[in-house]
Amino acid sequence: MLAVEQEFTYWLGDVQFGGKIDAIIRERSTGHSYVIEHKSTVQDTSAGSPYWSKLAVDTQLSIYLDAAAFALDIPVHGAIYDVLKRPQHEPKLATPADRIEYTIGKGCKACGGSAKAGEVTRGRGHTIVAFASSVEHPPCAECKGTGWKCDKDGVPQEPRPYANVRLTDETLDEFEERIVADIAARPDDFLQRAVIVRLESELPRMREELIEQVTLMRAAAASGLAPPNHSACSMGREMCGFWAACSGQADIDDEHQFPRGVAHPELVQINHRAA
Ligand code: SF4
Repeated sequence: MLAVEQEFTYWLGDVQFGGKIDAIIRERSTGHSYVIEHKSTVQDTSAGSPYWSKLAVDTQLSIYLDAAAFALDIPVHGAIYDVLKRPQHEPKLATPADRIEYTIGKGCKACGGSAKAGEVTRGRGHTIVAFASSVEHPPCAECKGTGWKCDKDGVPQEPRPYANVRLTDETLDEFEERIVADIAARPDDFLQRAVIVRLESELPRMREELIEQVTLMRAAAASGLAPPNHSACSMGREMCGFWAACSGQADIDDEHQFPRGVAHPELVQINHRAA
């Protein structure tokens, strides 16, 4: 491990770039160094998906590779990208009361127990299903008049909820257990790793693009313009925190909804150092 949480700044023309690299490592077997980048996403990260394709022109990655060489004097062969796919599981909720259905017994031939599920009473965290059986003969030992065959302990089997019915919400522990089991069963669907490289011939164009981007941002700022980037409004299942303002549903000057003065502490530190 050559560096961890490594901050950097470097100049490209009259533009100063800054940031923090998760880690830089050196592979013992080859002596090659790599930037390590940890990401989490809800996007499709399967092999060949657009997530990986886009990294070929990813600006942040280009900056990190240049930063390692220019600012930290560690020329790297590329970046090892570890991507954690955020589980999209939702807690399972109890089936709405009006959609709960119970198994229906066949009835008892011996005594005529009719095996009907009768009144259903729901209390806090429990459900009581009363038997509602009528018998044609004195109750037999097999079903005790319920029409439901007795189990080995002599207790009539009760009407059971259908397999797709839940009587209670999934608890937090059950939810966690289910997610952990799912990740353990198919880890490659949740953690992907790839090595991303930049060819020497690609770097000059990348740097030019970066400078162009900054030039455009400066020009926009000087003109009082703030061009929207609508391709980033929705990421995964969530909308950008400014969506309400950008879509005209809220006022950006509403400081209650869009509080001021909460810049990320790391950005504040970097800005102070750069000043
Ligand atoms: S909603 Fe967010 S991403 Fe979309 S234009 Fe507004 S600030 Fe940019």
